[in-house]
Amino acid sequence: MVRVTILPVLQDNYSYFLEAEDGTTAIIDPSAAEPVLAFLQAHGKPLHYILNTHHHADHVGGNLELSQETGAIIAGFQGDSDRIPGQYILLRDQDLFKLGNSWAQILHIPGHTLGHIAYYFESESMLFTGDTLFSLGCGRLFEGTPEAMWHSLSRLMSLPDETKVYCGHEYTLANLAFARSLAPNDDALKKLEYALKEKRQKDLPTLPSTLGFEKIFNPFLTCIHDASPVEAFTKRRALKDAFNYSSL
Ligand code: ZN
Ligand code: FE
Repeated sequence: MVRVTILPVLQDNYSYFLEAEDGTTAIIDPSAAEPVLAFLQAHGKPLHYILNTHHHADHVGGNLELSQETGAIIAGFQGDSDRIPGQYILLRDQDLFKLGNSWAQILHIPGHTLGHIAYYFESESMLFTGDTLFSLGCGRLFEGTPEAMWHSLSRLMSLPDETKVYCGHEYTLANLAFARSLAPNDDALKKLEYALKEKRQKDLPTLPSTLGFEKIFNPFLTCIHDASPVEAFTKRRALKDAFNYSSL
């Protein structure tokens, strides 16, 4: 068992505080130190590990200060040790990261960045996807090719449907607007919009999602049904990059 607490940080980032049964703790992608330190103080918790999904500033911004204040050890992809501040543990694809009596499998999923990884807790059915897979969307291709990103998303899709998806940003409603632009008359998407808006009005996160849900509604994952998924995905990603958010 690993307990997850969702910490909204910066404008629309999420950091995730994890606590294993034996009290070992970790924070996934601390965007900033202060909100995490405030949480630790308020709940009287130690911090043992900082787990990064990728090197972008809005995911590693709190690394050094947090590590200094708590002694937490910083982990990230082995190839990114020169750009993840304070990185000490070098993770590779298929590695197992031990958190107390639980384990996370490391999945190297390039596309958004070349060194992006996901943390998959199989026994807990939890997947931390950073900026690779969002609810109803996926990350922009800053460093990888569409082929690489599609391969990465396909790897995530091969995990069980009940897997809970914890991503790096609260982008769900903006992503839904894009999904709806592709299928304006889709009743299921319309209903989804009501439900998601209600959550956001109450300031609740729309996460975690599940892989089963994403396989049905995420307009990038549904490219798998196309005759040539990579081509479909490439087109869709380009469309999304050009999508005008002012329609929100
Ligand atoms: Zn990013
Ligand atoms: Fe980000």
